[in-house]
Amino acid sequence: MLLEREFSFDAAHRLESYHGKCENLHGHTYRLSVEIEGSPDADGMIVDFARVKEIVDREVISKFDHSYLNDFIRQPSAENIARFVFERLEPLLKGPDYFLSAVRVWETPRSSVTFRRRDMESPK
Ligand SMILES: [Zn+2]
Repeated sequence: MLLEREFSFDAAHRLESYHGKCENLHGHTYRLSVEIEGSPDADGMIVDFARVKEIVDREVISKFDHSYLNDFIRQPSAENIARFVFERLEPLLKGPDYFLSAVRVWETPRSSVTFRRRDMESPK
């Protein structure tokens, strides 16, 4: 089964060596979702939503919200943000019967990137 939890944060970024709207300093209201794959335990849950929220708030949202993303990620494109968040959460969101399967980042309501577990093997 798949479990998904959504978050959002406001942050600024600029993309260097890119010629377009994201070259200059500006902000987005990002949407983030984490997708966890697993099987329900004896309590009928893959993982408690409250636990997912606590980990993602602590590890990602509290750092990114109202921040300058370039302070954390070199070239913070949606692709690089999704990879960064996946790598940060992957060791924390795992248990005997569940694991982080994907992280999706929306830079605008209609534009998103999904980093999947299998993308961990692809070069940066
Ligand atoms: Zn941008």
